[in-house]
Formats: sequence, structure tokens, C-alpha cells
Amino acid sequence: MSEAPGKSKRSPRKATAKKATPTKNTKKATATKSTAAAKKATTAARKATEATKPTKPAAAKSTAKPAAATSTGKPAKPALKVTQPESRLSLVRRARRINRELAEVYPYAHPELDFENPFQLLVATVLSAQTTDLRVNQTTPRLFAAYPTPEDLAAANPEEVEELIRPTGFFRAKTKSIMGLAAALRDRHGGEVPGRLEDLVKLPGVGRKTANVVLGNAFGVPGITVDTHFGRLVRRWKWTDSEDPEKIEALVCDIFPKSDWTMLSHRIIFHGRRICHARKPACGACPIAHLCPAYGEGETDPEKAQKLLKYEKGGLPGQRLKPPPDYPGQPAPPLAAG
Ligand code: SF4
Repeated sequence: MSEAPGKSKRSPRKATAKKATPTKNTKKATATKSTAAAKKATTAARKATEATKPTKPAAAKSTAKPAAATSTGKPAKPALKVTQPESRLSLVRRARRINRELAEVYPYAHPELDFENPFQLLVATVLSAQTTDLRVNQTTPRLFAAYPTPEDLAAANPEEVEELIRPTGFFRAKTKSIMGLAAALRDRHGGEVPGRLEDLVKLPGVGRKTANVVLGNAFGVPGITVDTHFGRLVRRWKWTDSEDPEKIEALVCDIFPKSDWTMLSHRIIFHGRRICHARKPACGACPIAHLCPAYGEGETDPEKAQKLLKYEKGGLPGQRLKPPPDYPGQPAPPLAAG
């Protein structure tokens, strides 16, 4: 567009004066321009700073270097720096986040003892002391076929029971326990397993752990199962440093709503068996490494860690001969084939 003739005749003095005292609009335009320039400079500076930063945050710190890819095949999440001492609020948030992320890793978590009724689960849990659930699952089919009810087991010949449960170890003591238990069920509870904690813990050989397993899985009553895996993992995660199962149970009950208790127990035990092992935790393949203050206690090399994985995570059979239908691994083999 051409300029208006009058404007071109403006004296240079006037023009200079106008330049020296800009109008409101010119001021606004200048201000906008300087803001844009400032923004541009800030963005450029930020980009330059980012370019010089390491690509993995805190890669050199032992608590903040999760693996590049985890056992789930997903890229590792950014590390959460766990400061010590940690506030109660932060611990609760981190603990609940661990539970949520474990739920994604093990959506199929379940009790790893085969059972068809509360009596079978109670006996199998007592037999699982000092041995693996796998060995119990390989042993109980013959035991329950021979003695399907508490009355049958209470009246059995102890030597025959010993022979049947021999593969689980400590078979003489365990025979006494399960026969005493069967007799108590017969005599005190009409041959039924009671569905209350206070009754269960009064049965011979039944502690809180066994009672909570039975309540949570056979009766749908929420319970925390503090076994060796559970205790080890919550200490690694710095939820507590206690070795006392009852104190651990009370602490965890305070962190999580009741509705989470049973599944939380399964997820933690699954993680302990598959990835966060007692002797060689597979930190380099751990999907919750970014939330774990003990990262680095085990193997951190992703390839080496991958080789440590067990059960379905390592492509191996599970512990149950009859796993639930959604279990993605292979069922365990029976004893003769094991
Ligand atoms: S394997 Fe265990 S110790 Fe290692 S990062 Fe995972 S949860 Fe922590």
C-alpha cells in the first residue's frame, strides 16, 4: 500500500521528536517485541542447558538408575529419589505407588498353593513351612485323595501320612501338626475350617501368617501375609526395618486400605519369588527399580539380570500344577516328572 501524501511531508524534526516520545501503540509494540525476544532467549538458553545434561537423570547415583528396559519390556520409568529420613506422607505415597505398579506387572497374582477348599488350603499352608509351594503342590494331590476331610486325616495311620508328605521335609513333625489340626477341626468345629482369625490361631500349628492366608484366599477376608519374601522386600523398600512379622503386618495395615491387603500380599510375594530374590535380586530387570532405595543390591546389568528371572518372567514353569486360567506361564510338572 502507498503512503498518504501528507505524511511524507512531515519534518525530520517532528519525526525525531516522535521517535523520542513514542505513542501508546508504539510502546506496546516495543514491549511485545522485547518480551518475545526475551522468551526466545530463555528458550534458547534452556535448550542449550538441556543439550549439555546427561540423557538419564542421576545415572551415576546408586538409588536412581533403573534398567533401560524392564522385565515387562517397557522402558524404565524415571527414578524417584528416596531421601532419608523420608516423611510419613512420602513413604505412604511411594508404598502405594509400588503397589499400583506391581499390580500392572502381576495382574494375575494369586496364592501359589493348589487347593479346592479351606481345609486343603489350611493343610497345604502348614506343609509349606521350610519348603517351596511347588514341592507342596506336587505332594498334596495324593494326600488329599487319600484323606479328603478332617475326619479322614484325623483317623489316619500316622506312618502312612508320613510317607505321603515325606517330599515336603520335616515329615514326622508335619504329620503330627496336620493330624492334630484335623482332629481339632473335627472336635471343635464340626469338621469345618472356621472363618475367623481368633478361631484359626487357636488351632494347633496355625499362626497369624497361616490364618491370614486362609482368611484372604478361602474366605475373602482381607489379610496381610508376612512371609519371608514379604518381610525382605518391605525392608529393602525401607517401609520398615523391623524383622518382627506382627509389627510389619501392623505397619502395612496402616499404609493400605483393607481392600488392598490380600492382593498386595500376593504381588509382593510374586515379586520376591520372580525378581527381587533373597540372594541375587535382578535389579537390572526390575520394573519398580525407580521406586526402590535398595536398587543396586543385586545385578544391575540388564542382560545378566534378565537371566536371573524365575517362573513365568524367566519363561519357566510356575509353582502351581493347576494355576488360575489367567496365569500366563506354564503349569508346574507333577512330582514324578519334576
Ligand atoms: S530387584 Fe528388589 S532390590 Fe532390586 S530394584 Fe527391584 S525391588 Fe529393589
